Amino acid sequence: MIRTHTCGQLTIKDIGKEVKLAGWVSKIRDHGNILFIDLRDRYGITQIVIDDSDEIQNIGVKPESVISIEGTVVQRPDSTINSKLLTGEIEVKLEKINILNDSHQPLPFEIEDAGSVNENVRLKYRYLDLRRNEIKENIIFRSKFIQSIREFLGKENFLEIETPMLTKSTPEGARDFLVPSRLESGKFYALPQSPQLFKQILMISGFDKYFQVARCFRDEDLRADRQPEFTQIDMEMSFVEQNDIINISEAVVKYAIEKTLDINIETPFPKIKYSEAMEKYGTDKPDISFGFILQNITDYLKKSGLDFIDKIIEKNGIIKAIKIEDGDKISLKDIDNINQFIKEKGGNGIGWIRFKDNDYQSPIKKFLKQDIIENIKTNLNIKSGALILFLGGNPEWVNEILGFIRIQISDKLKIKNPDNKFYFLWIVDFPLFEFSKEENKIVSRHHPFTSPEHESFKNHDNPLNITAQAYDLVLNGTEIGGGSIRIHKKSMQEKIFEILGIKKEDYQEKFGFLLDALSFGAPPHGGIAFGLDRLIMLLKKQDSIREIIAFPKTQKGTCLLSGAPDYVESKQLKDLKIKIDLPEK
Ligand code: ASP
Repeated sequence: MIRTHTCGQLTIKDIGKEVKLAGWVSKIRDHGNILFIDLRDRYGITQIVIDDSDEIQNIGVKPESVISIEGTVVQRPDSTINSKLLTGEIEVKLEKINILNDSHQPLPFEIEDAGSVNENVRLKYRYLDLRRNEIKENIIFRSKFIQSIREFLGKENFLEIETPMLTKSTPEGARDFLVPSRLESGKFYALPQSPQLFKQILMISGFDKYFQVARCFRDEDLRADRQPEFTQIDMEMSFVEQNDIINISEAVVKYAIEKTLDINIETPFPKIKYSEAMEKYGTDKPDISFGFILQNITDYLKKSGLDFIDKIIEKNGIIKAIKIEDGDKISLKDIDNINQFIKEKGGNGIGWIRFKDNDYQSPIKKFLKQDIIENIKTNLNIKSGALILFLGGNPEWVNEILGFIRIQISDKLKIKNPDNKFYFLWIVDFPLFEFSKEENKIVSRHHPFTSPEHESFKNHDNPLNITAQAYDLVLNGTEIGGGSIRIHKKSMQEKIFEILGIKKEDYQEKFGFLLDALSFGAPPHGGIAFGLDRLIMLLKKQDSIREIIAFPKTQKGTCLLSGAPDYVESKQLKDLKIKIDLPEK
């Protein structure tokens, strides 16, 4: 037996025991004729004390080498008790030491300092980085969180079913990662962007409650916090309505968080409609931990006599404002920065009024009639010291831009989430479609398998007015999950493809297998997927998703540890009948 205990296990109760431990040499402290080693493993640190430091010097123990020891558990002298460690009241008096494996010196970085080391170096030596307590705890937390989800869903009768990795492309709105087929030259598998169609087909097969800790792949240009492969907690259920899925989702999230973080999560989570989210916060993933709600002041500015405002209103535009009670904390310089941002977004600038006692300041003061000011003061409940920022233009643009400004100001004033809580929020009643300027056509807002809300489908005069039976879950201003009730009738699925402008032969070719399946007794069904990485990142209060993934990729999609992606041997390409056609360097 190499070890009898772990390095996090021994306490005062074990005094006198003969033990064997194994682990990594975390620290060596030489106090002349007495030497201490902090021995570390996944579970903790135990101090080893060596009276005869000559002996140890002779074998030459080095930091981060793996050793095993034998010794007796003794109580630490009072002066050396470390109350921060579970093992802090004892130490093990060394009797025998064995170097199991040496560690190369010098190390690329000191393990406990790695938090401040260049991230690329950390990623290259990820095995060392993962020895660090903080990141190790993240990975352990992630594992426990997944276990608690399995536990809960298992009890609720969900089946964990794997779906293929080598598959056909499913549209989730991103580019596919492709894998060439050797046996069918010229053809490609796509790695799944999500298990969407397979989980729907499982419902048609009668499995009625499915989940999977599913790896998904999307070949997108990586924004700050995306990974080309990521993990979803993916669920699907039959014979359910939107509220059933919302309820079970809340229950699983509550269970897993309470179990792993030992805090209380209140359910139900609040719900707001997509349109209300856009109106109030200018985004479909609002952080509701603070105010600064966007307020429509168009009515108070009608007949203002101000040319630029009249023009906006004539063109069916709106004017919206954000009220900042502590207006003094926003300087002219801050307003300049906001103006700069608005100009980048195609606007002219922000209007502002600063209220002080019974007077006010504003660059357009001489144009503002007193009754307008009074109207704004009463309706927005303005007190001395407040600043309002206002912006006019077409409603979507105004909401979006003010939504960004709302966040910028809250960052600047540091008023986000003052009590450090988890603010969950459901967004419901999404539009089924949206107009994509890049593609110059109507596209699905979620994916084309989302069921419309029936009344709005029946009565629509414009597809853009159809509401979806879709819902997103937002946590502290980040979307952490989303799903929908699905279309389960073939005829409806075909209608949706047609509205999307997909030709019959094309949708037959791509989704014929789904349409066939829908025609053999598909039950009503729906589901949701949670972005596990982002959820864990928020729960562990980390700034980057890379801190909670054991082997993350860089923003360029590379794995610095293994060197992927990489060239392959020409024989492999020949087998695949693939020729590389790269421009000469
Ligand atoms: N497949 C969807 C996604 O990956 C989630 C769902 O509708 O269940 O975003």
